[in-house]
Amino acid sequence: MLEKITLCTLLLLPCFFAMSADNAEDKDRQLLITSYINALAGDSGIGPRIAASKMEKRAAEWIATEFEKLNISAEVQPFERVFGQKTAPQRSQNVIARIDGTSDKTFIIGAHYDSVPASTGSMGVIDNAASVALMLAIADHMNSMPKIKNNVVFVAFGAEEVGLNGAKHFVESISQTTLENENIIGMINLDTITGGDYQYIHSAKTAGYECDGDTSKFAADPIWRDTLLTHSSKLNLPFKKHAGNAEYPAGETGAWSDHSPFACVGIPVVHIEATNFDIVGLNGQDGYSQTVNPAMWTCFDKDTLTTCDRPNEKKWGRIWHTEFDRIDVLNREFPGRLETQLNNVFLLLSSFLSTSD
Ligand SMILES: [Zn+2]
Repeated sequence: MLEKITLCTLLLLPCFFAMSADNAEDKDRQLLITSYINALAGDSGIGPRIAASKMEKRAAEWIATEFEKLNISAEVQPFERVFGQKTAPQRSQNVIARIDGTSDKTFIIGAHYDSVPASTGSMGVIDNAASVALMLAIADHMNSMPKIKNNVVFVAFGAEEVGLNGAKHFVESISQTTLENENIIGMINLDTITGGDYQYIHSAKTAGYECDGDTSKFAADPIWRDTLLTHSSKLNLPFKKHAGNAEYPAGETGAWSDHSPFACVGIPVVHIEATNFDIVGLNGQDGYSQTVNPAMWTCFDKDTLTTCDRPNEKKWGRIWHTEFDRIDVLNREFPGRLETQLNNVFLLLSSFLSTSD
């Protein structure tokens, strides 16, 4: 892209060619992201990827292979932990890939690839195949740049849905890897980055998380949330900070996804999420209700932004973990939304990672 713009500027030609090349590049990237989503969560793809299952393992191997196809070496990090309904340790795995920059600082970008069981009707598209797809696209883009400043470590986490196991294992393993000696300056968690009505950037909660009892190192620093929001407005992207309420102050989120083990060891985190914090959901304004789309409510009252029949509400505007988290349903109910929102995250992160100090 850079070369073509330079050439067209040098020759004082109208920038039509550069423009069309940009569009072609966007189009290629969107096709690539779509093909990744289909491979993980389409009808003829891997499908539901329940923690510790064969399909989860197959998904991990697929992710590692895709990194390799992009000429980025990837390693599978196996782990055993007690999770789900079981009392004996279960096996899962993370996939870790890395692109070196010129500084001694490192960002971690993570996205879980496991999903809830097929019995929910979900194929795990927005939660969380789309984030894995986006992470691969970002890795491809960063790898094609002549040089980047900070190192970027990409981690596809296993077994998130049953207790953030991949993220916890990864955080525990840092002390046994070369990462121990690196300056990890931030973690960006991609979980449910598309599907919901608005795109948010959250930091950890100032009040802290439970951190398995050890809260001594907890970091609530919102530095990367605020930096990303600045990038968003410079790029005219629609990311925002949620307005805040008693339980979740403005721009802060809960401990329910893979960012929390990182915050617990003192790494400033962000969570990028598409949801709707204006809705008054089952337990208040916590982002668990993602959309005002009436198809995803038993009965929705658009004036009060909540159910019109609390005792009988069955759906609560949730896409995640439901039969709505499937490619055909998402395309029918939200035409074009996934493409637009994923492109927004791509533009945001590619700008941030190529310029951040
Ligand atoms: Zn998730």
